Amino acid sequence: MTAIAAPTTGQFIALDDEWSTHNYHPLPVVIAHGEGAWVTDVEGRRYLDFLSGYSSLNFGHRHPALVAAAVEQLGRVTLTSRAFHHDQFGLFCRELAELTGTEMVLTMNSGAEAVESAIKVARKWAYRVKGVPEGAARIVVAGSNFHGRTTTIVSFSTDESARADFGPFTPGFTVVEYGSLDALRAAITPDTAAVLLEPIQGEAGVVVPPPGYLSAVRQLCDEHDVLLIADEIQSGLGRTGDLFALDHEGVRADLYTLGKALGGGILPVSAVVGSRAVLGVLRPGEHGSTFGGNPLACAVGRAVVRLLATGEFQQRSRELGAHLHARLGELVGHGVAEVRGRGLWAGVVIAPGGPGGRAASEALAAKGVLCKETQESTLRVAPPLVISRADLDHGLDAIEAVLRR
Ligand SMILES: *Cc1c(COP(=O)(O)O)cnc(C)c1O
Repeated sequence: MTAIAAPTTGQFIALDDEWSTHNYHPLPVVIAHGEGAWVTDVEGRRYLDFLSGYSSLNFGHRHPALVAAAVEQLGRVTLTSRAFHHDQFGLFCRELAELTGTEMVLTMNSGAEAVESAIKVARKWAYRVKGVPEGAARIVVAGSNFHGRTTTIVSFSTDESARADFGPFTPGFTVVEYGSLDALRAAITPDTAAVLLEPIQGEAGVVVPPPGYLSAVRQLCDEHDVLLIADEIQSGLGRTGDLFALDHEGVRADLYTLGKALGGGILPVSAVVGSRAVLGVLRPGEHGSTFGGNPLACAVGRAVVRLLATGEFQQRSRELGAHLHARLGELVGHGVAEVRGRGLWAGVVIAPGGPGGRAASEALAAKGVLCKETQESTLRVAPPLVISRADLDHGLDAIEAVLRR
């Protein structure tokens, strides 16, 4: 009798190609299992995860405390809709507000929804509190931004592939050069509701703004009665070695958008957190989401908050991040043009003449390390914050073997 062969990598990929829309170009690895910093593919090969779901897996795959919280809640109640109260909602909101030093929480699901929500809140605040004439509010954003994929959000993207054929677009946004205070100052008018920024631009290639930029943005916002909205969906929740990337400059935002790691790598959980003076403008019926703040999301989110409240992961990111940047820094001039980033997060710009970003990612996967290019020739390195130093070195050895010239 012949055994029926298990489906192979190629067969799974063929299924994806035939039945799913072609809006991604994944590496040819089919993951079947994950634990901590490691995943295993359908053929039993193990890989070190150096991407962490674009920072969604800050606590690694299936962190025991997060899985336990999810399983506990699965045995109680998972969905109520916001038509009713449930016993996890207020606790999650309070605990997240306390962790983030804010006063109010608006719960959503995906990151894009959090950004959309922040835009709506900022506009309403501009009309009702700042006194901007109806329909005139503008939001200043940065070039090379990434805030998600909805129609309104791609309206102010500067990435043509994110916009082409998706118009007409939402008006009301002014794009300025990231890192330029003069450009920002010139763009602010009496009708400006908010400045929306990533404190470190992830998708653009882990671009860190010049020192002092973020605190000067804060000052400009204060001078002109403009809200500062920090999109910390990728940079926040421990990734850079602090709770928020803004914390490195001692800057506070009026609104923070959170997502990715807030769901603990288990399910989508996003939120806008901020002051009562701003988030307090929403009234019943004006905004919402069927799944936002559901019991399962809140239970997992509470467990994420508990992990972050110890400071352990922020510290790991700082310490291991120093090691990561020291080792990657040694490659500059030897196949690497530049290394940017903070904490356990790096954009590694491959020098001209080296492999393209895609080829480098494929070569790394062949060595059992998963990361992914962003832009043409930048590798985004974002290991889970639970990674051991030995595993981190293992991944860095692979990067060195692929890139060193
Ligand atoms: C990923 C990301 C988003 C969008 O989040 P989704 O959950 O994919 O909608 C928004 N802003 C930033 C900075 C991101 O990295």
